[in-house]
Amino acid sequence: MTIEIQPNDMLVVVDMQNDFLPGGSLAVSGGDEIVPLINTLAKQFTNVVFTQDWHPADHLSFASQHPDKNPFETVELPYGTQVLWPDHCVWATHGAALSVDIDIPHGQLILRKGFRREIDSYSAFQEADRETQTGLAGYLNERDVGRLYIVGLATDYCVGWTAIDGSAAGYDVTVIEDATRAIDNGGSLAKAWADMADADVKRVQSKEILG
Ligand SMILES: [Zn+2]
Repeated sequence: MTIEIQPNDMLVVVDMQNDFLPGGSLAVSGGDEIVPLINTLAKQFTNVVFTQDWHPADHLSFASQHPDKNPFETVELPYGTQVLWPDHCVWATHGAALSVDIDIPHGQLILRKGFRREIDSYSAFQEADRETQTGLAGYLNERDVGRLYIVGLATDYCVGWTAIDGSAAGYDVTVIEDATRAIDNGGSLAKAWADMADADVKRVQSKEILG
């Protein structure tokens, strides 16, 4: 075992929700393949938090709110360029629920993000306007958490932004690559790994933890 998980380390399980899994409205290819691995990895951690994408039905990241636009096109919002998505993770719907196959009963917190109509939030720390805080950094600081390990969906959006913002918040952040899957829209995956490297985010495989 090359990486020994410490009692104060935290596993962050990003957006393992029905809409991002096969059959969902914004399914990430192979998203279901990482569920057993995430369950196994979680057994190594005392501390686990989940994130949950959580949008009102008229969220401005939905292409359906922009009559002349299609999913995966972009639009300019006050805070910058926003990718438009199919409707997904509408609060209190089946699609927004965490997968019932995620079996981590000792998980400690579900952090919801993206619940303001006007602002998307890929990151679990800071919304897309790069000003509005989710409160996760405060929670982690109060818990006196050590290193962050990040898994889930999707590598190039919510995992990547969460990892970069975690590093900016002062944490030692590692993404466990084979416990993520990507959307890879127009080169977004390669860009995300480059941006994560620039932010000193570590990139490992699960075998480095599980042995
Ligand atoms: Zn979303």
